[in-house]
Amino acid sequence: GLKTYYPVGSKSLLGRQQHFVKAVDDVSFTIYEGETFGLVGESGCGKSTTGRSILRLTEPTDGEVLFQGENLAALSEREMQAKRRDLQIIFQDPFASLNPRMTIGQILEEPLLVHGVKSKTERQRRVSELLEVVGLHRYHADRYAHEFSGGQRQRIGIARALALKPKLVVADEPVSALDVSIQSQVINLMQDLQKQFQLTYLFIAHDLSVVRHICNRVGVMYLGRIVEQGECDKLYENPLHPYTQALLSAVPIPDPSQQRERIILQGDVPSPVNPPVGCAFHPRCPHAMDVCRTTRPDFREAHEGQLVACHLY
Ligand code: SF4
Ligand code: MG
Repeated sequence: GLKTYYPVGSKSLLGRQQHFVKAVDDVSFTIYEGETFGLVGESGCGKSTTGRSILRLTEPTDGEVLFQGENLAALSEREMQAKRRDLQIIFQDPFASLNPRMTIGQILEEPLLVHGVKSKTERQRRVSELLEVVGLHRYHADRYAHEFSGGQRQRIGIARALALKPKLVVADEPVSALDVSIQSQVINLMQDLQKQFQLTYLFIAHDLSVVRHICNRVGVMYLGRIVEQGECDKLYENPLHPYTQALLSAVPIPDPSQQRERIILQGDVPSPVNPPVGCAFHPRCPHAMDVCRTTRPDFREAHEGQLVACHLY
């Protein structure tokens, strides 16, 4: 039941109503230990805000974030700080997230220092180890972010996320800013590290083709809500929600004779300040019915483990 709303406009003295962007509006899903859960949708659908809300880098407005049974949303700032060892994030733009005035060694040492690794020798040992784990070299510790390629920078971002041996890593479009040729290298690395360190991933992407090979289960978001979720293979084979069907029809597949007919959606994603009533997808949906314009569809299990919010089911 996670909700994260941003206020927009100013609270007026004349009592004008304040509006909210409902970036995340009643989202529920489960991530199992050791799996990769993909969260997919177009930009602005609320997937990054969902990831940030789980880590409380953005404060949720309402709802719960249960991590190993404990509600993170109810922790004090101080308690949450201690939890951050276990919950880390990899950002989309590795360059923007690495301080240009710090060496890579300093960047990797920082979380260790903050979380109480007091011995300098121990920290340096861990930094060398981290660099090697992500396929870089210990001598890279003395260099600065601008000396590295995009792919190398993302390896550094991954090393930083792993510094404290986290359990859950939120990867927010970790390969979107990289050349296609580099993307699979970084994804392979993430998969190797997942096995090596028993990591659990929330993998955020705007493109269903990226998550296909890394995710066990996937959730599709539209305008702040999950519209369909299920096991990755089943969802790709048999997408139920008209929005998922449209997204998937745009993904090229190796055998062109199996290619689905491309579904072109009408119009743009409506504003999340004032989302359409009923099913928020109805203005663009090729299957919209009268009920879709008035009544929001509940999330229900259409097939085993495959949940969909659509009146067709
Ligand atoms: Fe389309 Fe109606 Fe299903 Fe929404 S509920 S996706 S408008 S058919
Ligand atoms: Mg984003």
